[in-house]
Amino acid sequence: MPLTVVKYGTPVLRQKGALIDSVTPTIRKLAADMLETTYAYKGIGLAAQQVGFAVQLTVIDVRGVTDRPSSLELKGQPADVSGSMPLVLINPEVKPVGQPVSGPEGCLSFPEIYADITRPDTVDVKALNLEGQPLEFRCGGLLARVVQHESDHLNGILFIDRMDKKTKEELRDELELLMAETKAGLKR
Ligand code: ZN
Repeated sequence: MPLTVVKYGTPVLRQKGALIDSVTPTIRKLAADMLETTYAYKGIGLAAQQVGFAVQLTVIDVRGVTDRPSSLELKGQPADVSGSMPLVLINPEVKPVGQPVSGPEGCLSFPEIYADITRPDTVDVKALNLEGQPLEFRCGGLLARVVQHESDHLNGILFIDRMDKKTKEELRDELELLMAETKAGLKR
C-alpha cells in the first residue's frame, strides 16, 4: 500500500531514526509499503521519516533514472547495479571514500525543489538487509548520492542542510512557502 510522503516542515523529518533491533513483520511491511510509495511518487529512494516513522530504514531503487550512472562493488568485485535493486537498508553506516563531487538532487519531501549538492562520489556501506543479515558494499555515482541522501534523512538531516549558502538563499522563498503550507496542513 503506497503511503503519504510528508513534506518539509513536518517535525518527524528532523528526528533521528531509532536503531532497528530485529526485523519484525511490521518492519517488512513498512519496507514493502515504502517501496510501493517510492514507485508511486517516481522517486529513487525513501527514508522511513518521510512516511512518518523515525527508524533506521531506507529503500532505494535507482533503476528509475537511466541517464546518471551508478557503480556497485561487492567484496571488491564489480556487481550489477540493476540486478541488486531494490535495496532495503536497515541501520546503515555510510563511510565516504571518494572525492567530493557536485550533482543535482531533489527530494520527495521537497516537491519541485532541486539543487546541486556536493558529496563524496564513493561510499562504503554497512547495513542489515530485510532478512536481518549483514550487507556490505561500495558504491559510486548516483547510487552513492542516493545512499548518502537517505542516510542523512535517517539522522534528521535534509538536503537543504548540504546546500551552499548562495543556493539556499536563492531557494529561500520557495522553502519558506513550502514550510508554511506544511504547517498549515498539520493544523487542519
Ligand atoms: Zn529526501
